[in-house]
Amino acid sequence: MAERARNPELGRGERVERGVFRLRLPLPWPGVPHCNSWAVQSGDGVVLFDTGMHQPDSMAQLERAMAMCGLRVEQVVLVVCTHAHLDHCGQAGEIVARAGCELWMHPNHDGLRRMISDPQAVLGRQLEVARQSGVPEAALRRYAAERSSGDLEVFPVPEPDRALVDGVTVDTDLGTWTTYETPGHAPSHVCLYQPEHRLLISGDHLLGRISLYFDYGSAPDPVGEYLRSLDLVAGLNARLCLPGHGRTFTDVRAHIDASRTLVDQRLAAVAEAIALEPLSPFEIVPRVYGEAVTQANAHWLLSKILCYLAHLHTAGLAYVIAGEPERWLGSDRPVAPAAAEADQAGAETHAGAAKP
Ligand SMILES: [Zn+2]
Ligand SMILES: [Zn+2]
Repeated sequence: MAERARNPELGRGERVERGVFRLRLPLPWPGVPHCNSWAVQSGDGVVLFDTGMHQPDSMAQLERAMAMCGLRVEQVVLVVCTHAHLDHCGQAGEIVARAGCELWMHPNHDGLRRMISDPQAVLGRQLEVARQSGVPEAALRRYAAERSSGDLEVFPVPEPDRALVDGVTVDTDLGTWTTYETPGHAPSHVCLYQPEHRLLISGDHLLGRISLYFDYGSAPDPVGEYLRSLDLVAGLNARLCLPGHGRTFTDVRAHIDASRTLVDQRLAAVAEAIALEPLSPFEIVPRVYGEAVTQANAHWLLSKILCYLAHLHTAGLAYVIAGEPERWLGSDRPVAPAAAEADQAGAETHAGAAKP
């Protein structure tokens, strides 16, 4: 989990193209200072793609950004969320209540529902995954103590009025946008494409500054899903990408290729790390990212490493050795002394014990 930080950012709005406005909204996360909502003209109002995160003054920031474009929250005729992460759907409840409009979102948002209904259980599961991954007990206790103190509560996001699945269309003055399911970053992720103007609303599937994240535990192989989703989006031939964070960009194909290359590099680095000795995900992190696991980056980096391991396992290139913590090896035949010891200790080294 990212640390909370004072954020001097203010909501800002700007026109991108005729009838398309970027609303840049502040986030409380170091390293990810803001996210985008996209307001697209639709008759007297706008369709709002993504909402920003709910924070104490977040509606004021949204109002400020919309006012800079001559828009008001009450003019929103429909809220469409690219995925069920809180920086993209967190304000949906307040906006639909004020505007009296519908919310459309993909139905695979169980993780969000669990965060709303039982945040303590979600924290417990995160700690269990971290323990299995080799995070030391003292760090886990410290993290649990800090996270139990009230910042677990998630502002409710209503159930969507419509399931935003493949082929669902959204009408705007620019023309009709079509929904494409693009799981990987999150199981609920979709992109929306407007073919006449070749505009792509990409959420967190494609970002201007290449950055990867996968929801661990949401699917057997989120990385594989992400790669297939990149192929799908590559076939759309978008001219301009409207991403979930950062500026718009036109070299969409290059961003798709760079995202794929980064996945390949990370997979290769993980495979290399576990080629000769069994390692826990906690031990793999510094070998792949060049930085140790800290409280600030633990959830982010361990989720990614676990997803890369799951992908390598799917390809028969990584095997888990049961234990506390679980360790991973790039071969089902231990070749290093450490691995041999683990084997003698009764550990299993076969695909059947692999997660998830
Ligand atoms: Zn996201
Ligand atoms: Zn995001």
